Amino acid sequence: MFVGHYGPSLAAKAAKNPIPLWVLFIAVQLLDVFWSIFVLLGIEKVRITPGITATNPLDLYYMPYTHSLLGAMLWSVAAGIAYYVFRKANGLSAAALVGAAVFSHWVLDWLVHRPDLPLYDNSFKVGLGLWNYPAFAFLLEIAVLFSGMYLYMKTTTRVSRGGGFGVVIFGFIMLAVQAYIFFGPPPTSDKAAAVTALVSYSAFAGIAYWLERKRAPLNIEQRG
Ligand SMILES: [Zn+2]
Repeated sequence: MFVGHYGPSLAAKAAKNPIPLWVLFIAVQLLDVFWSIFVLLGIEKVRITPGITATNPLDLYYMPYTHSLLGAMLWSVAAGIAYYVFRKANGLSAAALVGAAVFSHWVLDWLVHRPDLPLYDNSFKVGLGLWNYPAFAFLLEIAVLFSGMYLYMKTTTRVSRGGGFGVVIFGFIMLAVQAYIFFGPPPTSDKAAAVTALVSYSAFAGIAYWLERKRAPLNIEQRG
């Protein structure tokens, strides 16, 4: 999954918590951020095999540290602890929410990946394989993303220029990126796939940082 991962981060922000939106954007992609770095370092492995699924050409044959169930749990706990250390004033519930955001990545990946997600180490691989159903997988990404975006829009309001149309443009960029990933040409190499992912996740976190400055939470009474 790619843009759909941002659904839970936007939904979490709609639940009114002090966690910056850009932190939630990094959190929901944290496993992929480390995956990209580990692929670049040669610690985890992927090869480009067009046709391995109907929409995604990545043969993710070795990623025990970032995408095993055990690994995902450990990263989630570590992220929650790290958030608590840096933002103690936000309380334990915010730290727990950051951990849950990190873990949401594995759950959504499990829906779409072919069985390449190990339960631990490199063994007992699972994945429902929705990537093999292009229309359905695409709709799922969009549905998860836009549900989160809808909740975020409903619970925040525009406070300066760009806070309204910024969200719409952001949605369109996300749609275009997802369509390119599913229906565009495959990445030229494993390292290219990792760099593309890192650049995209950084750019999206940057947009989230910008967007949050243009919008403010609505009070309960103001909510329609
Ligand atoms: Zn992933």
